[in-house]
Amino acid sequence: MKVGLIGLGNMGGRIAKRLLQEGNRISIYDKNPQIIQEFVAYGAEAATNPQALAAKNEIIITVLPNAEIVKEVVLGNEGLIKGFKPGSILIEMTTSLPEVTRDIGKVLYENGISIIDAPISGGVKKAETGELSIMVGGEEAVFSRVLPILNQIGTTIILVGELGAGHTIKAINNLLCATTLGITAEALALGVKMGLDPEKMLKVINNSSGRSHSSEVKFPQQVLNRKFEVGFTIDLMYKDISIALSLAQDQDLPLGISEAVLQLWKKGVTYGGDLDHTAIAKVVEQMAGVEIKSTEKIGTDEEISQFIDLQGQRK
Ligand code: NAD
Repeated sequence: MKVGLIGLGNMGGRIAKRLLQEGNRISIYDKNPQIIQEFVAYGAEAATNPQALAAKNEIIITVLPNAEIVKEVVLGNEGLIKGFKPGSILIEMTTSLPEVTRDIGKVLYENGISIIDAPISGGVKKAETGELSIMVGGEEAVFSRVLPILNQIGTTIILVGELGAGHTIKAINNLLCATTLGITAEALALGVKMGLDPEKMLKVINNSSGRSHSSEVKFPQQVLNRKFEVGFTIDLMYKDISIALSLAQDQDLPLGISEAVLQLWKKGVTYGGDLDHTAIAKVVEQMAGVEIKSTEKIGTDEEISQFIDLQGQRK
């Protein structure tokens, strides 16, 4: 198939590579010229701006940092809307604000162009292997038309509701993820203060009711071994919690725990917004005056897998 892609960072870049590997014809645009060069070398065709990309492709995917940038890329000068022909479809994969997506949708529909929001979960590893979870908002007919492309990128693809519904559930999911990361860091820091070993604590927690994806995967893969490999930044996670809380505010819904989580991640932004989100553990460590690190030194990927597999034996 022929697909245009805008935003080739940690996620968009891997999605582009995946679509190229699957034999699609990919055209790209990114504001960073170096990234464009890199993908031209992989076999993608470069466009000079979003307008030019939309003129050549009926289906465009956007994977951008935030709602404001999406709006500019779609509706701004040299935006997609200037190049799209009627019948074209925008697949908006950014973690974005549902309201902004619906506003963009109104303008696109007036011009005969369709849009679905299709944010993603699974991180860079699942983006690489085409195993993302994709949560979609929009019309069923549009969803069906783009499903063959989504199937090349993800393995769990769910049409959640109308336009904006994908962005809503994505913010809710990341609110949960940010919360379990923060609370697991706090709980382990308390244990370390009390003289317990982080690895043993995780073995107990991951076979008990306190477990989560954060304790089962993120702490062993990134924190205990002090890797903190950048795949998804603290800045982006802070944006996502802020989206969830803005939705709660719109609904006059007080979310006390979530407010506290936002404050922790705000500290994270000051500590180092461009660090990987797992480095939120370092913010907690700094406040606690301890380090949550492995004493058994599980460093290599194989050792980490063994550790995760061992925990998995309970399943
Ligand atoms: P990133 O910062 O690595 O990539 C963003 C890309 O967009 C960069 O290449 C940048 O040059 C480009 N860009 C920025 N402004 C632009 C513009 N005006 N025109 C064209 N290109 C522009 O970000 P990422 O980690 O790939 O995340 C992208 C989106 O996916 C975010 O909304 C994020 O919340 C979401 N997300 C990320 C992950 C993850 O693990 N990284 C997982 C799920 C969802």
